[in-house]
Amino acid sequence: MQTINQLNSYLLIVLVVLIASCSKQEAPNDIQQEEVVEEEQLSSCVNYSTANADDLYTYWELFVGDVLCSRGGPDYSQLNTTVNLGFVVPSEAEITSGITPDHAGYSTFAGYCNSSNVYIRVIKDYWEDYTEVQKLWLMYHEFGHDVYKYEHSTNRADIMYPSVPRSDVKLNDFIRAKDKLFSRNFDGVTYIQCPN
Ligand SMILES: [Zn+2]
Repeated sequence: MQTINQLNSYLLIVLVVLIASCSKQEAPNDIQQEEVVEEEQLSSCVNYSTANADDLYTYWELFVGDVLCSRGGPDYSQLNTTVNLGFVVPSEAEITSGITPDHAGYSTFAGYCNSSNVYIRVIKDYWEDYTEVQKLWLMYHEFGHDVYKYEHSTNRADIMYPSVPRSDVKLNDFIRAKDKLFSRNFDGVTYIQCPN
């Protein structure tokens, strides 16, 4: 009896090893199939590859064009007569005092509380580490503050969430989120209150 039990447990071990090696062999195929079934690229009426990482104004032009062609207006280039975009390098003191925002850019009072001004600063060191989609995401986030006067969202999928998504964020995620941004249709949308 003892021998049969030992034999049984030996067989069981062999079986387990066989199953394990079979599933190991199948794994690479599963991964390859997932890669093939990639989501189809959503179309947009602007070409995001025209963004030039060294020239923040190309992001403004994209944003203005995007609102015009996907929403029919308003023409924010007409409404905002002064557009001031630039890179900043925060000082050591500013960084250690925690002044650095949770994402790489910021809109200022001079922009979001003045409907004819856009005034945005981007922290160069952070910017350089961003992917193309993260850069678009950040700039549209700041335009969201500055042009729409949006406060932050609590939903990670929204452009107005306070931090830029991880580097694996897809252009499709951005396109869905910017459509929600333009249509003022995202969770808990609230507006910055300015004096008068
Ligand atoms: Zn913000």
